Amino acid sequence: MGSYKGSRVFEGYALGKLAVYATVKVEKAAGLGQDKEFARFEKARAATIAALDRSYMETLSKLGEEEAALFATHKLMAEDLDFEDAVRAELETGVSAEYAVHAAGGQLAEMFASMDDAYMKERANDVREVAARIVTALRQKEDGFALTEPSIILCEDLPSSELMKLDKKLILGIVFAKGGTNSHVSILTRMLEIPAICGIEDLEVDRKLDGIFAVLDALKSELLIAPDGDEISKYLAKKKEYEANKAKLQAFKGKPTLSKDGKKVEIYNNIASSFEVENALRNDAEGIGLFRSEFIYLDAKDYPGEEEQFEHYKRVVEAMGEKQVIIRTLDIGADKKIDYFDLPDEENPALGFRSIRICRARPEIFLVQLQALYRASAYGNLAVMVPMIISLEEVDFIHQMAALARENLDARGLPYKKDMKIGIMVETPAAAVCSDLLAKKVDFFSIGTNDLSQYTLAIDRVNPNLSLSFNPRHKAVCRLIKLATENAHRAGIPIGICGELARDEKLLPFFLRIGVDELSVSPAYTLSLRKQISHIDTRQVDEGKYI
Ligand code: PEP
Ligand code: MG
Repeated sequence: MGSYKGSRVFEGYALGKLAVYATVKVEKAAGLGQDKEFARFEKARAATIAALDRSYMETLSKLGEEEAALFATHKLMAEDLDFEDAVRAELETGVSAEYAVHAAGGQLAEMFASMDDAYMKERANDVREVAARIVTALRQKEDGFALTEPSIILCEDLPSSELMKLDKKLILGIVFAKGGTNSHVSILTRMLEIPAICGIEDLEVDRKLDGIFAVLDALKSELLIAPDGDEISKYLAKKKEYEANKAKLQAFKGKPTLSKDGKKVEIYNNIASSFEVENALRNDAEGIGLFRSEFIYLDAKDYPGEEEQFEHYKRVVEAMGEKQVIIRTLDIGADKKIDYFDLPDEENPALGFRSIRICRARPEIFLVQLQALYRASAYGNLAVMVPMIISLEEVDFIHQMAALARENLDARGLPYKKDMKIGIMVETPAAAVCSDLLAKKVDFFSIGTNDLSQYTLAIDRVNPNLSLSFNPRHKAVCRLIKLATENAHRAGIPIGICGELARDEKLLPFFLRIGVDELSVSPAYTLSLRKQISHIDTRQVDEGKYI
């Protein structure tokens, strides 16, 4: 029945029957009378609360308090008297309990969505989710969607609570027809390491697909529905090989990252949310090299406050213990637009108002973030880096704002580390060329090869028509990486690479040879990178070949 392309949430292969998760649809219908319908509501709500209690306990034991808290919140919402009053009011109009719950949930969700507080705004989805659960219980399917055999879940989107409730042993993979790679449920899916893809435009989630055999290739981000026998054999072989390789990599856990000739390099991880820190730990990362903090802003409906940001940063820093965590300050603009920032339309957004440029124009936003970061520094080994740097003046501004943040926390009597390291990303040719001067003013460098390639080669990184011209291993990029590395070391500061090139098999020998101190990659690549490095003898590497 065809193949469909999406975006990768978590890599891997899955072969099995599709289990279609259909979003609950509720039509307006007449009830059996107000009292009878209210009794039905009470019974369904009690069943829902019991199911939420079970999910809470199960999640608590498997993933911990942080993730389990969602179910406690949902329980409070189900018990909430305002919600109950709204259901009663709907029932007075003679409708069914299903419709009353659905409508009451919708009203409360709208109320939450209109609030100023970003945290409260986010609760709108939770209310809808709780209402949908009660409606499902009213329909006499107390546990709603359940898997009875190993399956690939096919859904438009899946509430996080639904995912947590399912038996993970029975989930082979997930296909989210809608949704993005950084939604909460996508992040959870990565944490659980379930092969999954999302964002498939031309796939209709139809119940008719329930039970049909499918292949999910989450390495290529493809779904094949009703493949033929040859294809199934081909993918079974691929899956077997992939899993055998993955199992062998476990031998690299708990080991230092050393080249064949004993040169040490550290493998850090890139994460986009505080929840992903679990993945980094599971894959034995030696630190976090890039926490893209802008996703906290992208997930919110309004500027996230100091407290909210502090909680995210603290979670990561605490979880990593003594290991270093590098959090990048907001990298908004260019391809990451946010409505509430009200950014101007631009002819050339990649060359426009983004990152540090926004921070200089709107220092109050930057200050809130720096205060949250300094506060989190008290809980572990935190370093902060700023993207898109092109000048010494920008670095001076960062230090001035950092001093202001410290003064503010002093006045409030809050603890923080005065010597928290502050570094910059080297991701513009300007920063690389002036890296000798910049290195004297910061504690570390991290090379963002995605942007460094874009700006050095004058190739738009999001323009698919330019892929033919794009050579990420271009000598110009390699020369700038070498220059920045030499200048960092001359000034006595470490340098890492956190762009996609950090895991480029062909350039790896070059990076090790020139002495890059740290490579930061997605958690799933940590162990395979450690293995590759163990096979490289840096004494044999001919630097000239790359530059
Ligand atoms: C980079 O530019 O290489 C980088 C790591 O940052 P981002 O991809 O988030 O722009
Ligand atoms: Mg970048």
